[in-house]
Amino acid sequence: MDLNTVVEVVSPARPGQWRPGDAWLGGGTALFAEPQPHVTRLLDLAAAGWPALTVREDGLEIAATCTVAELYQFAGAPRFEAFHGIARGCCSAFLASFKIWNVATVGGNLCAALPAGPMIALTAALDGTCLLLGPDGARRTVAVADFVTGAGTTVRSDGELLRSVHLPAAALTGRSTYRQGSLHAHGRSAALVIGRRDPGGGLVLTVTGATLRPHRLVFPVLPDAETVQVALAERIPDQGYVDDVHGLPAWRRHLTRRFAEEIRAELAG
Ligand SMILES: Cc1cc2nc3c(=O)[nH]c(=O)nc-3n(C[C@H](O)[C@H](O)[C@H](O)COP(=O)(O)OP(=O)(O)OC[C@H]3O[C@@H](n4cnc5c(N)ncnc54)[C@H](O)[C@@H]3O)c2cc1C
Repeated sequence: MDLNTVVEVVSPARPGQWRPGDAWLGGGTALFAEPQPHVTRLLDLAAAGWPALTVREDGLEIAATCTVAELYQFAGAPRFEAFHGIARGCCSAFLASFKIWNVATVGGNLCAALPAGPMIALTAALDGTCLLLGPDGARRTVAVADFVTGAGTTVRSDGELLRSVHLPAAALTGRSTYRQGSLHAHGRSAALVIGRRDPGGGLVLTVTGATLRPHRLVFPVLPDAETVQVALAERIPDQGYVDDVHGLPAWRRHLTRRFAEEIRAELAG
């Protein structure tokens, strides 16, 4: 939709340019989806020219402006098995995927902070850390799992920019798998659960989609079925499940618990 309060677009935008009334612009697929009466200026990050994906000795750096299409096509660093095991599945978890893949960005997905944010799921599951740049040049890092605090809310303060997400090499080399469920074939994710077996034998389960914010459950050794179910019940309160047109909380909780057990059994093999 037209954002008819916007009077200026700064393109390309740079860190440090933010002032009240500004909004950072990624792909615009969430920003242009609803009225933004408080926004008078757009700061176009997509034009900043940041390299989308950078393989480093210590892991993978994903620029906030990396599009979903670029992430889907990335075939570099085959040793990052855990990444490749789930990345394409997470891209495909977008509702009506192909319509938005070429413009929607990883950073925009994290900052929009929808429960069904599949880039939140991917990067939280792989121990991602967000690099945030403040309007005064201050830098800080926050784990992706802590960056999203609720449906549509993050720890980002006014004017703070998400520059990139770093995935550490240690989280990229184990085995991974995922389960995703929706009310209909191409529907918005009602539950997206990711499992990662680290080389040391432990299991990390990341629950998104079903819940208002991501939940990471870390098991130092492979747990049995009951341990996983008890941990889910203890760590995710009933009010933590999403209640909207894409699924009732009780159904989302059921899917989460079922998917978690399927993942545990698969990664135990
Ligand atoms: C058909 C369709 C299907 C969709 N399906 C899904 C879905 O299944 N799951 C889902 O989560 N979303 C979905 N969306 C919503 C949206 O497309 C995605 O969340 C997308 O990833 C947003 O990315 P973007 O780059 O377009 O963000 P934008 O729209 O550009 O930005 C979103 C918000 O984040 C801020 N922002 C963007 N980049 C930065 C940055 N680097 N630093 C700080 N702030 C920033 C913007 O100011 C804005 O508030 C869908 C949208 C459409 C139109």
